[in-house]
Amino acid sequence: MNEQITNSAPNDLYIGGKWVEGTGGDRFDVLNPADQTVLASVASGTVEDAIKAIDAAEAAFADWAGRSPRERAEILRKAWELIIADKERFARLITLENGKPLSDARGEVAYAAEFFRWYAEEAVRNRGEVMMSPASGARILVQHKPAGIGVLVTPWNFPAAMGTRKIGPALAAGCPVVIKPASATPLTMLALMPVLAEAGVPAGVVNVVPSKSSGKIVDAMLHDARVRVVSFTGSTEVGRTLLKSAADNIVNPAMELGGNAPFIVCDDADLDKAVEGAILAKMRNIGEACTAANRFFVHDKVYDAFAEKLTKRMGAMKMGNGLEDGVEVGSLVNADTRNKVTELVDDAVKRGAKVLCGGKVPEGPGYFYPATVLGDVAPDSQCVSEEIFGPVAALQRFSDDDEMIAKANDTEYGLVAYLFAGDMKRGLALSERLEYGMVGLNRGLVSDPAAPFGGVKQSGIGREGSHEGLKEFQETQYISVEW
Ligand code: NAP
Repeated sequence: MNEQITNSAPNDLYIGGKWVEGTGGDRFDVLNPADQTVLASVASGTVEDAIKAIDAAEAAFADWAGRSPRERAEILRKAWELIIADKERFARLITLENGKPLSDARGEVAYAAEFFRWYAEEAVRNRGEVMMSPASGARILVQHKPAGIGVLVTPWNFPAAMGTRKIGPALAAGCPVVIKPASATPLTMLALMPVLAEAGVPAGVVNVVPSKSSGKIVDAMLHDARVRVVSFTGSTEVGRTLLKSAADNIVNPAMELGGNAPFIVCDDADLDKAVEGAILAKMRNIGEACTAANRFFVHDKVYDAFAEKLTKRMGAMKMGNGLEDGVEVGSLVNADTRNKVTELVDDAVKRGAKVLCGGKVPEGPGYFYPATVLGDVAPDSQCVSEEIFGPVAALQRFSDDDEMIAKANDTEYGLVAYLFAGDMKRGLALSERLEYGMVGLNRGLVSDPAAPFGGVKQSGIGREGSHEGLKEFQETQYISVEW
């Protein structure tokens, strides 16, 4: 155990409320991306372990689903309190395993915990419906029941929040879960388990199986007839694979996949506000977010002024180990992510983009990449069609709204779009024409536990957060009653 990690979990598998080493005996190292030191060795679950976790979830299901909504709500509320009381420890752990600056990690902990408070409040608002059938006169009685065991697969970019955004509604609905966290960042989810136990979550209701054989163990769980929900956050490519596996047993899918967000600045926008929005939309999490602004479309009339302000702000951002004071650009999560960013920037420059700041990999350890602004990016550049997943703002000009909307919608993704406009009538009219599940209108941040988060097209199926998130873990039952 690395001395930087305090009071942490044993980093084994967490099944049925117990820490177990796993049947295969294999372990894998989790690295600090800022200096490549080993943080911890984590047990790697096998198919046999994953099925044992499903057994534990099944054993816990009836009791958990049978508890009163109020009791489930109180436990979730307690979990929120305990995480907030321990916010700093969780934030440091996220920074250590993910590389993001401590300020981002603190924001993530508050956001992650909020899903427990929100779903504590939703657990007691599980409304049904009664109506009279227009034809037969029978009563139509509709209720929402727990869907069953959920398999939750999460990415490395928000090691806490992408898990709690699923655990919160699952537990509120009465469903037990098995979580497969990302191999790069499993420590935060493991560290959450003693906190959930202290809050009163019974053994077996939440199980965690980290594994280096993700494909095999998730596929095995999706082919176990007891599993009724698969909730995945990650790449569109892996989402497609999971949808295929889920098809065999018709498992309910909830998919939060990739994005390619446009960030639009109209000629009447408040430019200072637009730059602040751009910093949030681009630089939160060092750009390693599905919601990160990927393509900037700036009106010709304000392009130069916006580019200058953004370059000044991004060029001044301090890069370094996320644990250090004042750092705004931490380390990217691994070599592959940084290599991809480098490749996309080099390609854009080859096609004529101007480097306004950044654009060079620094010397030394860690997977750092500086805040970078690219001007006049050619529309056929790879960074226009692919997720950058790094701190690079790629700017293009536009002069006609119709042409800009067509370009903004010209992608297979549809997660989030950002739009800055002075005239709200114009802003709302343009927002409606954007083919995206979410739009930030004069805002660079849309994530909110009370709002339905999710995408259209190949960005996903279903919604997380809000009341809609609960529905992903419920089945509707209708009883036709002769009154
Ligand atoms: P990823 O490669 O798709 O991995 C996500 C999770 O799936 C990890 O736990 C991973 O395990 C697991 N996995 C990988 N291959 C699998 C397979 N064949 N079967 C089952 N599980 C498998 O994505 P990532 O690189 O971690 O995250 C980045 C992506 O997530 C981006 O595309 C981003 O846009 C998207 N994202 C979307 C949202 C959203 O809400 N829409 C939020 C955050 C991120 P291992 O780590 O062990 O490989």
